[in-house]
Amino acid sequence: MDVNNVVEKLVWEHLDSVMAQKPDMCRCARCQADVVALALNHLKPRYAVSPMGYAITRAEIMEQAFLVNVLVAIAQGVEQVYRNPHHDEVT
Ligand SMILES: [Zn+2]
Repeated sequence: MDVNNVVEKLVWEHLDSVMAQKPDMCRCARCQADVVALALNHLKPRYAVSPMGYAITRAEIMEQAFLVNVLVAIAQGVEQVYRNPHHDEVT
């Protein structure tokens, strides 16, 4: 069974709308992944296993206005990647 970080799902879901606020931001896969990683470093993970557990954890997160923190963390990640993108690195 998979263990999922509900916060990670939330970050991916809102990535587009936050990046849309910075029109000249690079949207390549590397930059998007970097933004998500930076955002998640600032957020407390919440893990869930079953679909039911996922729904409950998610409802709890919404109730705590956790979404605002998520959006702020994504915006900070966008700003950081915008100034210092890593997509030219040889991997
Ligand atoms: Zn890029």
